[in-house]
Amino acid sequence: MTRLIFLGAPGAGKGTQAQKVAELCHIPHISTGEILRNEVAQGTDLGIQAKSYQEKGELVPDQLILDMVLHRLSEADAQSGWILDGFPRNVAQAKFLDELLEKLQQHCDRVINLEVPDQIIVDRLLKRGRKDDTEEVIRRRLEVYRSQTAPLIDYYNERHLLVSIQGNQSMEEVTASLKKAVDLDCSTP
Ligand code: AMP
Repeated sequence: MTRLIFLGAPGAGKGTQAQKVAELCHIPHISTGEILRNEVAQGTDLGIQAKSYQEKGELVPDQLILDMVLHRLSEADAQSGWILDGFPRNVAQAKFLDELLEKLQQHCDRVINLEVPDQIIVDRLLKRGRKDDTEEVIRRRLEVYRSQTAPLIDYYNERHLLVSIQGNQSMEEVTASLKKAVDLDCSTP
């Protein structure tokens, strides 16, 4: 069974790699950013509340995120493994996840930290052209990453779960490094 968390600055390639590994292992790719973007597109209550935070590059308040993750991880398809992408995003979320996994009698195998130099990140994000990829919002997302999300590197390192991978390589090379570093439990090729 494969259960992984993907950490890394915006633009580090988390989403792409998380999606790839999820496909390889036939397990759900759970991206809180994507779930929120869908809620915004559908104009749900959650989407209406999340929109202004996403647009500014701020984190959406924990109370909105935690319930969403609780439900998603309780769904049937998440019982045979998962890849979390973009969650947890701060220490409070990580502690919530620890407690939730204990309740669900699951554990996370590894936390993958994709390391990419700042300048490359900004270039990549500007090219990606998502709605929240303007230069100002990118700068704010990077600040938020450094102050709130990067402390999770120590958090998971202390728990002996962290694996760092150089993200500044081609997509295929990153996937290959990942496969080498993590013993992926997906039997089918
Ligand atoms: P992402 O697609 O992971 O880059 O996330 C895009 C945006 O969604 C972020 O800038 C936040 O506004 C919001 N978001 C995604 N995941 C979380 C989370 N775990 N906690 C708070 N906000 C989040």
